[in-house]
Amino acid sequence: MGEKGRQVTSVKKTEAPVTLKQAEMQELLEELLVRLGEDPERDGLVRTPERMERALQYLTRGYQQDAEKILKDALFDVSYDEMVIVKDIEMFSLCEHHMLPFFGKVHVAYIPNGKVIGLSKIPRLVDIFARRLQVQERLTTQIAETIQRAIEPQGVGVVIEARHLCMMMRGVEKQHSAAVTSSMLGVFRDCQETREEFLSLIRARAGNGS
Ligand code: ZN
Repeated sequence: MGEKGRQVTSVKKTEAPVTLKQAEMQELLEELLVRLGEDPERDGLVRTPERMERALQYLTRGYQQDAEKILKDALFDVSYDEMVIVKDIEMFSLCEHHMLPFFGKVHVAYIPNGKVIGLSKIPRLVDIFARRLQVQERLTTQIAETIQRAIEPQGVGVVIEARHLCMMMRGVEKQHSAAVTSSMLGVFRDCQETREEFLSLIRARAGNGS
């Protein structure tokens, strides 16, 4: 593999060049290490391209998953019409601008209109959208809109509090503040009382550490 990787940079006229598209992912990652000033042959790095490939595939596996399909198997008819809340869902994602992690908590609420989603599917839904290259704002609205389409509830509210390593590690962020985004649909948007109930329920156990 090391030999092959080197062909990328030293192509002879008589051979067909190995183009970027033909190169294996691990060859590209090995070349990335070289460009960063590293020696990919040294002990600690020999298997790094292989590990990076696996890690990157895991962290972006949401592209292979279909949120609507997963929800379809977990919808139930009920007459319950109080607010359903799943809060403090752990979220790990990669920002699409730097491919660095951002992570935090997601709070999801909705008021049913005849249908509910199996509770365990809500964190699953968060995961499917988080395991892609994202911006926090889009992640927030994708979660809300997918629930809206799946069960057409009276309304949906999603709040994400997250910290971004691309800001923290690069010294852009002055304090240890979290970015907060929200998406409010239906009654959560139109009715201040509903929205406030949601927000106060989130706050109720916030500041709990962790
Ligand atoms: Zn970023």
